[in-house]
Amino acid sequence: MKIRAALLQNMGLPTPYAQSRPLQIAELELRDPGPGEVLVKIRAAGLCHSDLSVIDGNRPRPMPMVLGHEAVGVVAKLGMGVADLAVGDHVVTVFVPSCGHCHPCEHGRPALCEPGFKANGAGTLLSGARRFGDEHIHHHLGVSGFAEHAVVARESCVKIDKTLPFDTAAVFGCAVITGVGAVVNTAQVKQGESVAVIGLGGVGLAALLGAKRAGASPLIAIDLSDSKLAIARQFGATHTFNAAAPDCAEQVRALLPAGVTHAVEMAGSAKALELAWKITARGGTTVTAGLPHPDARLPLSPVQLVVEERTLKGSYVGSCVPSRDIPRYIEWYQRGELPVDKLLTERIRLDEINAGFDRLAKGETIRTVVVFD
Ligand SMILES: [Zn+2]
Ligand SMILES: [Zn+2]
Repeated sequence: MKIRAALLQNMGLPTPYAQSRPLQIAELELRDPGPGEVLVKIRAAGLCHSDLSVIDGNRPRPMPMVLGHEAVGVVAKLGMGVADLAVGDHVVTVFVPSCGHCHPCEHGRPALCEPGFKANGAGTLLSGARRFGDEHIHHHLGVSGFAEHAVVARESCVKIDKTLPFDTAAVFGCAVITGVGAVVNTAQVKQGESVAVIGLGGVGLAALLGAKRAGASPLIAIDLSDSKLAIARQFGATHTFNAAAPDCAEQVRALLPAGVTHAVEMAGSAKALELAWKITARGGTTVTAGLPHPDARLPLSPVQLVVEERTLKGSYVGSCVPSRDIPRYIEWYQRGELPVDKLLTERIRLDEINAGFDRLAKGETIRTVVVFD
């Protein structure tokens, strides 16, 4: 079938994004789903900072590629052997497919799925196949959601409640599972523990909402932008600090001399992670879910790690089991405990996507969602 999709030809184009127009809205051929795959009619897809990182070359990926890794849609066709989904089901995409059989999958860590990691690196679906008519075009994290339709592995989607509006549902695919999962699964924040979130994009603000639901207190938000800090206060942050201040860590220590129990870094820079490390308490946990350039390095004192019994933990896909956690987080949203609809600041058409990324790069939006008819 013919689809319209946002295609990235080459990495490394300079910002500002809208002027360079790195994404072309192209008409492409999409083939039928193969065995174990499904065709999804995309209804909404979110613009995420890690899409920007592919565009600017910080996350090198094989090109050309149809971008988009946070999407929701309706199952339109089933490939051979898919028995647990039906045409018409609503599904949220997952940006690491999990085979269910490898060592990490069998030990409850599907975010580390070995075949899933390999497929994502190669820009293919979980099976190793590519389903665009032009064999040279790659899939983005098994999703390629900036398109009218997508073929994805069954393992790249989770069935959701049909009553959930599509624009809200989309953000569960990345911002919510990455942000809330980092707090709930990776840090395992408990009622009354102090939490600081550093970097207040869609993922960071979702983490803040997750920490508020977990009963974190005090709940600290840190960013370079005062307007993001104001949003964080509306989202429930009890204290905010601007990371541009050279004494930001000392300011946090003035509030909490012992430091914070959990410092969660969502900014994607080594500097932000260094700040998170500096404000973490003895015995505390520093969690990082940002995605800095592969060459970035972190200066740490190993002895501090030992004598303060510190923990430094990476968090990918929020250490989630998506088939368990996406429905669970949706339930929290529906009960009013996790108001992630507040993350949605803008709805655009596919043709407006370059300008949408431009505004995201400038920090003018939290989550922009492309909506499809
Ligand atoms: Zn993302
Ligand atoms: Zn696996």
